[in-house]
Amino acid sequence: MDCLFCKIAAGENPVHKVWEDENVFAFLDINPSSPGHTMVIPKKHVSTMFELTREELGGVFDGVKKVMQKIKDSKLAPQGFNVGINHDSVAGQEVMHLHIHIIPRWENDGGSSVQSIIKHPPEESLESVLEKIV
Ligand code: 5GP
Ligand code: ZN
Repeated sequence: MDCLFCKIAAGENPVHKVWEDENVFAFLDINPSSPGHTMVIPKKHVSTMFELTREELGGVFDGVKKVMQKIKDSKLAPQGFNVGINHDSVAGQEVMHLHIHIIPRWENDGGSSVQSIIKHPPEESLESVLEKIV
C-alpha cells in the first residue's frame, strides 16, 4: 500500500513523533495551523471512521485525549483546542488515511470555531431534516 501516513506510522518516513502506542501514532503536521498542530492516526490503514470497529476507534480517541493532555501540560500551554476530522474528500480530506487534527488554541490567536468551516444552513425546517435522518 503506497500510503504516506502508513509509511510515517511504520517509521519509514521522517516525522516529528509526539506519541505512539501499539495501535495509534501521533505526529506534528508539516504545515501547522497553530503551534503544536498534531495529527493522530490509527496504524491500521483505513480512510474513514466507518472502517474501524468500536474498540479500534476507542483506541484512536483515547490517543487523541492523551495527546491533548500532553500538549496542554507542555511548555506550549494552549488554552483550548479545535479537534476535527476532514472526513472524505468533499470535506477536505487530502490524505486518505484517517487522521484526527488536534489544533491548539490561545486567546486572541485570530482563529475561529469548527462551525466557521461552512455556512450552508438548510432551507427546510429542522423537523423536516430530522425526518430524513431517523
Ligand atoms: P487533510 O486535509 O487530509 O485532513 O490533512 C492532511 C494534513 O497532512 C495536512 O494538514 C498536511 O499539512 C499534512 N501532511 C501532508 N503531508 C505530510 C507529511 O509528509 N508529513 C506531515 N507531518 N504532515 C503532512
Ligand atoms: Zn495508510
